[in-house]
Order: sequence, then C-alpha cells, then structure tokens
Amino acid sequence: MPVYWQCGGMFTRLLFSSFLTLAFAALAADLKPAYQAKANRLILAATNSTFGFQRLEVLCDRFGARFTGSKNLEDAIDWCLAEMKRDGFKNVHGEKVKVPRWVRGKESATLLLPRPRPLPMLGLGGSVGTPKDGIEADVLVVPSFEELRKRTAEAKGKIILFNVPFTSYRETVIVRRLGAVEAAKAGAVASLIRSVGPFSMQTPHTGNMAYEDGVRKVPHAALSLEDAEMLSRMAARGERIRIRLKMEAHTLPDGFSRNVIADLKGWEKPEEIVIVSGHIDSWDVGQGAMDDGGGCLAAWEAVRLMMKLGLKPRRTVRVVLWTNEENGIRGAKEYARRHAADLKNHVLAIESDSGVFNPTGYGFLGSAKGMETIQAVGKLLAPIKAGEIKKGCRGADVLKLIVGGVPAMHLEVEREKYFWYHHTDADTIDKLDRNEFNRCVASMAVMAYVVADLPEPLAR
Ligand SMILES: [Zn+2]
Repeated sequence: MPVYWQCGGMFTRLLFSSFLTLAFAALAADLKPAYQAKANRLILAATNSTFGFQRLEVLCDRFGARFTGSKNLEDAIDWCLAEMKRDGFKNVHGEKVKVPRWVRGKESATLLLPRPRPLPMLGLGGSVGTPKDGIEADVLVVPSFEELRKRTAEAKGKIILFNVPFTSYRETVIVRRLGAVEAAKAGAVASLIRSVGPFSMQTPHTGNMAYEDGVRKVPHAALSLEDAEMLSRMAARGERIRIRLKMEAHTLPDGFSRNVIADLKGWEKPEEIVIVSGHIDSWDVGQGAMDDGGGCLAAWEAVRLMMKLGLKPRRTVRVVLWTNEENGIRGAKEYARRHAADLKNHVLAIESDSGVFNPTGYGFLGSAKGMETIQAVGKLLAPIKAGEIKKGCRGADVLKLIVGGVPAMHLEVEREKYFWYHHTDADTIDKLDRNEFNRCVASMAVMAYVVADLPEPLAR
C-alpha cells in the first residue's frame, strides 16, 4: 500500500507538473487569441508613424544636452509636461527631486612634451577642478590599476594616464569610477583615463566618477582613445610626456529637478500600475539623443499610441521620465521613497536606456511565474522579431523599485554601437534610425498594454 501511494503520489506530481507545463503552453497560446490582433494594431501604428521620432528631434534640437541642475533640463521637463497634457494624458505632473549640481566649467588638456598639441578631453562628473593656472606635470602611462601599484615609486607628483582597453562597459567603467582614487593613493596630482568606449573619432566620453573618504581628491578627466594610445606609444619609446591640465569643475549645493509622470488610467483597476520609462536627464554634452531622449520618447509614444487607438487597459499605464539618472539616480530613489506604500500596486516597471536601436526583447527581473507570463507576451512581438526574454535587468532607474518588490525590466536592443556615442558630443539624433526607434515604440506598447490588461496581475 505505501508503495502504491508513493507511486500514486509521484504519478500525481508528474500529472501536476505536466498540467503546469500544459497550463503555460495554454497561457502562451492563450494570449494570442486575446491579444495578437491588438498587438498587431499597436505594431502597425508604431511602425508607420513619424510623430514620435519628430518629437524626439524637437527634444534634441530645442533643448540639447539636459544635464542635472541645468536650465535646459528643466525647460525640457516643462515642455514634456505641456505636450503630455495636449496628448490627453491624465495626472500629468512633475514630482520634485533634490539633485546634485556639478558644473564642468572651462577645461583643457594640453600636451607640452614631446610635442605641443591640444588634447580633446572631458572632465568626469563629480571631479574637482585644478588650481586656476592648472596642473602641469610629467605623465606616467599605465594599462591597469595593478601596474600602477607596482610602479607607485614613479607616480609621485605625476599625472597618471590609465590606458585601459575597452572590453565590456561593466568591466572597463571601473577605471572611470575609481581612477582618481587609485591615482591619489599612488601620490599622483591628477588622473586621466582613456575614454570608456570601443570606438572613437577623437570623441572623449564623460561619465560619473567617485572619490573615497580619506583619500585626497585629484582632478579626473578622460582623453580620446586615439590620444591615449599615442601617449602610450610615446611612453613605451621612453619619451618624456608632459601635460598641462586646466579644469574649472566644481560642485554647487543641491538643487531641485522633477520626475515627469503621465498616466493612461486603467478602466478596471486604475490603482494598479505598469510603468514605462526612460530618463530625461543626460550628460552635459551632445544631445542625449540615445542616452536617453530616445528611451523617453519611445516610452511616451508607446502609451500615446494606445490612447490614439482607443486601447484602454484594465490597469493604469504610467509614463515616467526619471531625472538625474546619470549622476545620482536621485529621481528613481525619490520615486521609490515617495510611493513606498504604493509599490505593492506597481505591477511592472519597464525602462529603455540602452539606445533606441533595433529591439530584440527584454531583460526581466522578477519571479519565475512572472517570467512565464512575460515570455508569453514576448511571443506577441514575433511580427517584429523582438520577443526574446532574458533573465536580469539593466535599467538603473527601475532597479530602484525592486525594494518594493516591483518586477523590473529593460528593453534589449542591438546595442553594438551604443558605446561608440555614449556620453560624448556625438550622441546626437542623426545617429538614430526612425524605423528602429519605431520598433522600440511598438515593443514597449505591446508589452505594457498586455501586462496592464491581463485579467490577473503579473505574479511576484
Ligand atoms: Zn542612460
């Protein structure tokens, strides 16, 4: 008997698990009859539109770079709010956020020896400046932090140049974040890095950096890939390298910015929310077209198209344009704080922040059951081949909501070229393709609409 029951139990478990598999297969298949036609309408509307991309052109050309603390950013936010009201969004407002204010000021790096040359450069966000007359010193070129630690005896009083080749962003960005700390610990007077990017046309990349308590703060800036390589070759030949670095960079007391909020209210459960988002701030160079004006406009346009087509989901779809992602993520942190009690009602938070290139799918951070549902929704994106769902989320803003248990998701794109332009003067609208942008819009529209409309909320 016991054996029989054990077998029976196993059989029941087997039956049950195949039932679950069948249930998932049924769910995946089930979404098609209910949603494929609506998904196709959204895809068709998005891919045949010029409106969203033209709006992105206006954002880029009219306001340019939208750095935290700048008038450009606040003007752009005012414009977004006014346009969203015109679109017919509800609950359109800015939510106040306390933000840091770093000011670049004038800056230059001049090669004095072995031959004079002005070096294209960008100070790194948060860096201190130099004295008014600049810092003039010999340069020690190293390929890594380890090499600097071995050659500390040579580093005192010098400017360190970290010529670290780009592997992946995640790996290489460490030299940008911590280069000034390592240089100061070795007794150097300033720190330069080879820009963090795989390709360059004399385009230095800026980005955030950090100091460490108890370690002297030295100026920290990026040179172009070409010049870092040239200086490295000169050093290898034993030539003396001397640079004058001038930076007016400084930090002002905190100021205020705003997250942009705009809702398409759900008809059945308006208190439950699906967020689609990008970050409205950028670095203070270029136009912030791909980082992240494109993500903002794709999220915004996705929801505008739902309204235009009369597709009203059960739950609220909320467009959020985060402020201060680049040098603080204070916008998302403030949203998580202000809406803490309400995060239980946030069903999903989606962000586009890898450029609006051809979309391939999403990265999803949530429960296994939630993943099954997202994969089923992904199948609806087959017409634009954008439904591949992977584990994990790279959206820096939406990741701040996981403290409240909110599943987080980023739009995955073919981002091979993203780091060519990222944080440079060349992050401008001409690098983007309207059709690729439109497919990003289509993808976010389908994903957000269907998740907001499913009878049951996404499993946590
Ligand atoms: Zn970004």
